[in-house]
Amino acid sequence: MKVLVINAGSSSLKYQLLDTDNQEVLAKGLCERIGIDGKFTYKAPGKETIDAADVAMPTHSEAIQAVLGALVDEKNGVISSMKEIEAVGHRVVHGGETFACSVKIDEKVMAALEECIPLAPLHNPANITGIKACEAVMGKDVPQVGVFDTAFHQTMPAKAYTYALPYEYYEQDKVRRYGFHGTSHKYVAQRAAAMLGKPLEELKLISCHLGNGSSITAIDGGKSVDTTMGFTPLAGVPMGTRSGDLDAGILEYLMNKHNMSMAEMMNVLNKKSGVLGVSGVSSDFRDLTAAAEQGNERAALALDMFCYSVKKYIGAYAAAMGGVDAVIFTAGVGENSAAERMSIASGLEFMGIHMDPEANNVRGKETVVSTPDSPVKVLLIPTNEELMIALDTAELA
Ligand code: ADP
Repeated sequence: MKVLVINAGSSSLKYQLLDTDNQEVLAKGLCERIGIDGKFTYKAPGKETIDAADVAMPTHSEAIQAVLGALVDEKNGVISSMKEIEAVGHRVVHGGETFACSVKIDEKVMAALEECIPLAPLHNPANITGIKACEAVMGKDVPQVGVFDTAFHQTMPAKAYTYALPYEYYEQDKVRRYGFHGTSHKYVAQRAAAMLGKPLEELKLISCHLGNGSSITAIDGGKSVDTTMGFTPLAGVPMGTRSGDLDAGILEYLMNKHNMSMAEMMNVLNKKSGVLGVSGVSSDFRDLTAAAEQGNERAALALDMFCYSVKKYIGAYAAAMGGVDAVIFTAGVGENSAAERMSIASGLEFMGIHMDPEANNVRGKETVVSTPDSPVKVLLIPTNEELMIALDTAELA
């Protein structure tokens, strides 16, 4: 089935057209600066790449139209008519407690998505705009499916998702751990089971999605039982620019001392902290590695803090599940940085994790990076959220 996958942001829209029968990517690209001056890129194997500026895109509808126009274009297109697209899958950031799996979108679902806006005020409105734009351009007959970043984590038990706050904040205000990157954690867990040749239901996995944003998830029998991100994607390990977990008392202290508003404080925590804040060099792990190699101590400290934090969660989640069969590394840093994988996993030999330095010297392809006799396997698995979205969409459509 040919499925169009859409990831809509407030002024951008990423797309991929996939054939779920052979899992092939037929075309992909990005609409940027929607509502400003419209930038459009399009790539399809064997076709001319388009990289165009000043494409009229006042709203997401024109962006979708540009995507469809490129897909059916006589010269560079990959399908002969829009009718070949049998379904559209949308990445939706927050599904609250309403959505524990992907859903076919109808009026009721749209209303529930609107209700989730307060939980993700920056992301969900953009996702909703993307859905409405697709319906406006493609009509009501093409099924649309919502795939949520939070859904996979809805299996967490109450002891993992409840914050130790007055309980009415959970009951009335829905304050709880939701977790994110669920589509990625679910995908790599399925791949891990395939690589290990064992049913997912019998495996205890710890999945480390380490990118600009990072989260670690404990997956017991295919179900998320705990995860590091929380009510928002600010929690857990230090990230590119996000602080991760910290003592909430720091907020009051710094806000008073520097006369900062809550909005300014949140901006610091989301955009100026993490490995960028500590190093003062960059949020990009490649820059940090280069700086650390040249003797920059704060860059080295930032990398150390990151790896130490991930390592601690691996220990914590092994304890939470009463064991672990495999640790998975995925996303930009997890897939590409042999040094970070090594630094995170070394010292964990006591719990049966033995890295193979030679096997680990690899990037971006499914590989067992632990020794052949390591009781706990360590796996490098490139994530593929678009494929997961397309597969869920095909199933529901
Ligand atoms: P996002 O969370 O934005 O999807 P990605 O998963 O693409 O992010 O990860 C981006 C991160 O991956 C960046 O910090 C980048 O430095 C890091 N990365 C990419 N390639 C390498 C590499 N070869 N070595 C170390 N880090 C890398």
